[in-house]
Amino acid sequence: MYRRRWYNSGKDDRERQRAMAFNRIRKIPTAEEIKRELPMPAELAKVKQRRDDELRAVFSGADGRFVLVIGPCSADSEEPVMEYLRRLAEVQRRVEDVLLLVPRIYTNKPRTTGEGYKGMVHQPNPGKAADLSTGIKAIRRLHIKALAEFGLPAADEMLYPENFAYLSDVLGYHAVGARSVENQLHRLTASGVDVPVGMKNPTSGDLSVMLNSIYAAQLPHRFIYSGWEVETTGNPYAHAVLRGAVDSSGRCLPNYHFENLIGLAQAYTDMGLANPAIIVDTNHANSQKRHEEQPRIAHEVMHSRRYDSVLTKMVKGLMIESYLLPGRQDIGSNIPGCSITDPCLGWEDTERLILDIAERV
Ligand code: PEP
Ligand code: MN
Repeated sequence: MYRRRWYNSGKDDRERQRAMAFNRIRKIPTAEEIKRELPMPAELAKVKQRRDDELRAVFSGADGRFVLVIGPCSADSEEPVMEYLRRLAEVQRRVEDVLLLVPRIYTNKPRTTGEGYKGMVHQPNPGKAADLSTGIKAIRRLHIKALAEFGLPAADEMLYPENFAYLSDVLGYHAVGARSVENQLHRLTASGVDVPVGMKNPTSGDLSVMLNSIYAAQLPHRFIYSGWEVETTGNPYAHAVLRGAVDSSGRCLPNYHFENLIGLAQAYTDMGLANPAIIVDTNHANSQKRHEEQPRIAHEVMHSRRYDSVLTKMVKGLMIESYLLPGRQDIGSNIPGCSITDPCLGWEDTERLILDIAERV
C-alpha cells in the first residue's frame, strides 16, 4: 500500500514529503543558558560533592557499603516523586551505615516501539502533548529541588547523550539503557562523566556488548558533542548492570542467578577493567516485569553475594523499581504515585525490602 502510493506520487509530492519530514518547532536553549537560568546553588554543589565522593568510594572498593538505585520507573510528576523521596530519605538515615541509596528520578524514557510516554523531558505533563522546551527545564528544576530537599543526588537514564549536558552538575549516577548500550555516542559521553555510569546488558543479553561499552567508557576520547570538539578523561567508574534478556521468541532470560554473576565476574577479570562492579536490576527482564518478584530476586542476589567472596566484592548494588503504590496504570487513570511505565513495588514492600537488604549486606 505504502509502496504503491510512493510510486504513484509525482516528483512534487515527493519533494513535499521530504520537506514535511522534519520540522523545526522551537530553538532549545543551550545547556549553558539553562544552567544560568536554573543554577545549582554553591551550598548544594558541596552536598553533592560529598555524596559523590561516597558513591565513588563504594565503586572503588574503599567503602564497603551496598548501593540501591531505587525509585519509580519514570518520574512522571513532581508531587508523588517528592513524597517518595521524603520517605526514602527517612529510610536512608536508618540504614546509612550499610546502604547508600541513590533515588531513581528517570526523566528520559526509552520506548521499545517508539510509542508511549517518553518521560518528563518530552511531556512535563503526562496528560498533555509533548513540549520539550518546557520539559528540558522541568527535569533540571525537579532534580535540583529533590537534591535541595533531601540531599540525595539522583540517578537518571542517559537516553539522549545531548541531554547529559543539561543535568551534568546535578546527577549522582547515570544509566546507559539496554537499548543504548551499543551506541558509540553513549559510550564516548559516558567517558567524560565524573560519577558512576551503569552500562546495562542489551535486550539480547549479549554480555560482550555491555563489557565493550564499559571498556570504551573507561578510555579517554575526542569527539564532537553539542557543536564542540571535546576530549574526555575516561570514566573508571563505568560498570555493569544486569537487567535480564529477551530471547528470539520473546521469552525472558533472567541473568541474576549465581552462575550468571560468577560468569560475569570471570569475564570482568579476563578483560582487566578498572573497578569491576556489578549492579543487578531486579525488575525488567529479570522479573519478567512482575514487580512483586523483586524482593525474592534481591534476596537471591544477597545470598549469592554472601556465598562467594569474589561476588561479595564485585556485586556492589541492586537497581529496584519502586513507587508509592504497587503495579502500574495507564496514562489517564490519574492515580498519583502509581507508575505509568513499568510496574513498581509499592512503598510498604519497598521499606521492608530495604531494611531486609540492610541486614544481609
Ligand atoms: C529502566 O530502567 O526503566 C529501563 C528502561 O531499563 P532498560 O534499559 O534495562 O530497559
Ligand atoms: Mn523501567
